[in-house]
Amino acid sequence: MRLAERMSRIRTEGAFEVLSRARALEAQGRNIIHLEIGEPDFRTPANIVEAGQRALAEGWTRYGPTQGLPELRQAIADSLWRTHGLDYGIEHVCITPGAKPILFFVLLALLEPGDEVIYPDPGFPIYASMIDFLGGAGVPVPLVEERGFSFDLNVFRRKLSTQTKLVILNSPQNPTGGVIPADDVRAMAALLRSRDVMVLSDEIYSRIWFDEPPLSIGTLPGMRENTVILDGFSKTYAMTGWRLGYGVMPPWLADAVNTLMVNSNSCTASFTQRAGIEALCGAQDAVTNMVAEFRRRRDQFCAALNEIPGIRCTLPQGAFYAFPNITGTGWKSKPLADALLEKAGVAALSGTAFGTFGEGYLRFSTANSLEHLLEAVRRIRAFLASEPPPA
Ligand code: PLP
Repeated sequence: MRLAERMSRIRTEGAFEVLSRARALEAQGRNIIHLEIGEPDFRTPANIVEAGQRALAEGWTRYGPTQGLPELRQAIADSLWRTHGLDYGIEHVCITPGAKPILFFVLLALLEPGDEVIYPDPGFPIYASMIDFLGGAGVPVPLVEERGFSFDLNVFRRKLSTQTKLVILNSPQNPTGGVIPADDVRAMAALLRSRDVMVLSDEIYSRIWFDEPPLSIGTLPGMRENTVILDGFSKTYAMTGWRLGYGVMPPWLADAVNTLMVNSNSCTASFTQRAGIEALCGAQDAVTNMVAEFRRRRDQFCAALNEIPGIRCTLPQGAFYAFPNITGTGWKSKPLADALLEKAGVAALSGTAFGTFGEGYLRFSTANSLEHLLEAVRRIRAFLASEPPPA
């Protein structure tokens, strides 16, 4: 029996591969500092856990409406009114088990073979994987370090064609920590407004920013009807394992996503959704404290990285990643990431795990204690001082 041909076009995520190699080394007794995986190292806030427990005790354990509980969809619409000034109804909101399925379902609902999809490179690896899997034509547009990891807008303009069906934007970004400047978002909206193109705005890190708040393209005039906002609870509320995400989109697309859900997951766990209502409507100090801690780590970790000869780390503006340029060390990204894991006990990801334009970079997640982050920098510095790059 052979797998379907399409399975040769789907890929996996580097973070999960490196995590399993790191675990194998730990099983041999090695000490590894984990800076590979993109999930907050905080516990889900107690009020949210209690709401989930209460929901279980109250019997929220059955199938719910496919599109999601109306109360949670309303809470999401209300929160978008507060954060984006956009007046959405619950018919715009689809709840999914994590935010990843929004990406999967929206692409599945929109793409015909050969349709072009513009996406950031380096970018979340699932974008390219899903585009290829569905027979779309991926059009990677490089993120430019000197522009704070935004696009070169001339390149972006040139890549738009009559075949472009979808543009994927992500801000704050995985893996770079970049936030697309508001002027760039406005310039892209001006280019897209008159075209028959959908935008998938991946805003999963929307609440984790340090200086300027990210501007959502969906809030700009004429963009709401061709924008899908992807967001969720995984990062903001440290709820990765609860699997709770959502998409906000025009109702014709929400109907299509609904049909795909009827055929796959049926619905999202009801007790998880009840906890999501508490997350959005309850106290937000846990989010504020988490973001403050990510900022403290960012400042000290990046400053320490910048003291290593050959490493240059642009200060991330959001999310919880650092994406230093390592070209000055003489190492290529993948061999350096492999060597740091095997020889220095630091698990990080090669920039190339996020696309070809990630060459010359490593991605570190700052979802670890400051003590471990600074110890990782000491190990990296000692490793680079003792080991010359391969010839
Ligand atoms: N989008 C980006 C840019 C991400 O980094 C992630 C998770 O790492 C997701 C979407 C998916 O989030 P979830 O865990 O809610 O499926």
